[in-house]
Parts: sequence; structure tokens; C-alpha cells
Amino acid sequence: MIFIAYFAIEHPLTHALTQNIAKALPYYLSGALILISLTFNRSRLALASVNICLAYAVIQQGLQAALTEQSNLYLYHATVILFGLHLALIGIYRERGSLTGWGIIRVFFIVSSYLLVWWIYRSGYADAVFRLALEYTHPLITDKYWITPLWLASFLFTGLILMIVAIWKRSSIEFALLVSWLTGHLVFYDFSEPLISTYLFTMLMLALFVAFVQITYDLAFVDTLTELPGRRALLEKMGTLGNRYSIAMLDVDHFKKFNDQYGHDVGDQVLKLVASKMQKVRGKGTSYRYGGEEFTVLFPGKSVNEVEPHLDELRANIEHYQMVIRDQNRSKDKKSGQNQRGQNASDKKIVQITISIGCSERTDQTPDPLEVMKVADEALYEAKGQGRNCVVCKVV
Ligand code: GH3
Ligand code: MG
Ligand code: MG
Repeated sequence: MIFIAYFAIEHPLTHALTQNIAKALPYYLSGALILISLTFNRSRLALASVNICLAYAVIQQGLQAALTEQSNLYLYHATVILFGLHLALIGIYRERGSLTGWGIIRVFFIVSSYLLVWWIYRSGYADAVFRLALEYTHPLITDKYWITPLWLASFLFTGLILMIVAIWKRSSIEFALLVSWLTGHLVFYDFSEPLISTYLFTMLMLALFVAFVQITYDLAFVDTLTELPGRRALLEKMGTLGNRYSIAMLDVDHFKKFNDQYGHDVGDQVLKLVASKMQKVRGKGTSYRYGGEEFTVLFPGKSVNEVEPHLDELRANIEHYQMVIRDQNRSKDKKSGQNQRGQNASDKKIVQITISIGCSERTDQTPDPLEVMKVADEALYEAKGQGRNCVVCKVV
């Protein structure tokens, strides 16, 4: 049996067949990713797939020959530059939907840039174009003569842009673009290795698939305003708690009045602030946005006595935070706004936010997490009754 399998794999016919399938794999993967990205309106992932697919096509169709030929070296450099440049631009682009005017213009831009490079290569102008950059194309590494100052400049410039964007935005797609950029340049660096482009471009497409799954997960489980996991994630986690845990319910005090006085946008800023403080809660608690201005913290393996000091610390942190807001009476119109500023020296105001917290733990009387949450909610109600800005723990 093993002999037959070995013979089948090692047979030249099978070998050629698997190689052909492997070579076509990046095309199939990018086609599939473009399709699902369009379905879920993730235009930047679709654009990245188009870019990667075209770079791979140029490598397969035009760059399987020696780079010692000047026209091949032109095609190689042009592909390296286009590959990095488009990834950097996709990093900067805002998500604007796939089948919109913007989406179509961007796809057209990517496709036409590769077509232009290809047309120059096929029509015999490559040498002339390459001569324009001759000064920047001397080899930097002896045994890798295709690594030139032009290559290095493109590598560093596009990498720098992608790194800044990834650090700034910190989302899965930016990191996927950075991984794509790095993997792509590994292929371009080790260009003489046979089949390297096929293997690494397949891996690269798989990395984009992982990013797609992560983005879809975030859409379903993470609250966009506060970036905390949402109620769906909370309910899922509640199903996995053991026999010992505490649940805290938090609610912003007089939030309706706050919204009415300063506006909904400032209200949203308050929710973000509360969420950022909650993310730092101690005692190994995980914070969730339950809904509206209500939040939940789960403390696996902890009793209320253990978590109460941490909750009180969180409450005090929020109470003592001085939030600076623009006075809503100031006109948005620049000129009259400046006039008002003249009359009223300060258009900034410091506001104080407080929260109330109710907490409970699992007991034999309340073995279900939903029951524990209900008791925590009752404790929260009591905290409101006691004048707000306090923590009440209740165990039944
Ligand atoms: P209490 O101290 O008793 O909790 O008073 P409250 O005014 O905070 O209580 P209530 O639950 O009546 O008010 C909740 C308000 O929260 C009502 C709603 O306008 C506001 N709210 C809910 N979700 C959001 C949101 O996402 N953004 C903003 N800005 N406001 C929200
Ligand atoms: Mg409320
Ligand atoms: Mg409230």
C-alpha cells in the first residue's frame, strides 16, 4: 500500500500534476477571497487579493526567465514597486465598500498599472524605461544581483507606511497587509529558489483568509463604539464559567441627563472613557458592553469579597477622571465661535462622570450565570438607591 502511494506520488506524471495544481492554488485562493470579501463588503481585502494575484501572475508568466536580461530586470523591479505601493495605498485607504464608485476606481487603478507595466515589457520599451533608472539598479548583494538601491528604497518606503498604519489602526487587516508585504518581499528577495513564489503566495493568501475570519469575528462579537466585546461574546463566555465566579453589572449615573445637556456625541465619548478604564480593571476581570450605558465584568474563579476592592478602585478611577469637553453652547461656525470665545474666555468645561456597580457570585442557590447576573442587577439597583457612585455586593 505504502509502495503504491509512494509510486503514485513519485511518478513523474503525478509530480507534474501536483506541481501544476500547486502553481494554480494562489489564483484559486485569491479568487475565493475576492468573492467572499465582496459578499461581506470588505473592499480592502478584495483589493489586496487583486494586487497579490496580479503580482503572482506577472511572476508566473514573465519572470520564469533569467533576470540577467535587462527587460526581465525591468519587469521584476516594476512588479516589486507596484506590489509594495498598492499594499501601502490599501493600508491608507478608508473602507468605502466594494461595488461603489470608489471601489471600482481603485480596482481599475491596480489592474491598469500592472497592464501598463506588462504592455511596456511586451512591446519592447522595457530597455528604454529601465535605462531611466539605471543609476539606481546596480547590485547591492553580489550573489543576489537583483537587489538594487531601487528595490531597497521601494521595500523601505512601502514597509514604513504599512508599519505606521498598522501601529496606528491596530486592526487585523493592517496586520494582514504587513504580513503580505513581508512575505511578498521574501519571494522577491530569494527569487532564484524554484517554486518559492508558489509556496509563499499560497501562505500569503491563507494569511489574508485568517484576517478575513478575524474581521468577521470582530463584527459579530466586538462593540464598535467601545471596542469591548459585546453581549454575544458575554453570553458565550458565560456558558464556560466553572463553579466559582463573580459577575458585576455597571451603569453610568444620570446618563440621560448628561446626553440631554452635552449631546449624544459627548455621551459616546463618555462610554468610550468608561470602557477604557474598565479594560484596566484588576483581579483578572474581563469587561463587556452589555448594551447602551450598561457594562458587565466577569471574574472567573473569584468571590465577591476578592473582587469588591478592584471594583471600588475602578469606580474611584472613573470618578476622579477629569473629562474636558467643549461647551455645547459654542457655535460650530468658526467666526461666531471666535467671537464667543472672546466674550467667554473658556469654551472648555470639565465634567465628572460616576458609575454605580452591583456585584454577585455563584452560590448553590444561584448555580446559573444568568441568575447570578440577575442578583448583580438587583445589587446595582440598590447602589442607585443608595445615592449612586458606589459598589453594592449581594450574595443569596
Ligand atoms: P441612572 O443614574 O438611574 O442610571 O440614570 P440614567 O439616566 O443613566 O438611566 P437610563 O437608563 O434611564 O438612561 C440611559 C440613557 O443612555 C438613555 C439613552 O439615551 C442613553 N444611551 C444608551 N445607549 C447610548 C449610546 O450608545 N450612546 C449615547 N450617547 N447614549 C446612550
Ligand atoms: Mg441604564
Ligand atoms: Mg444609567
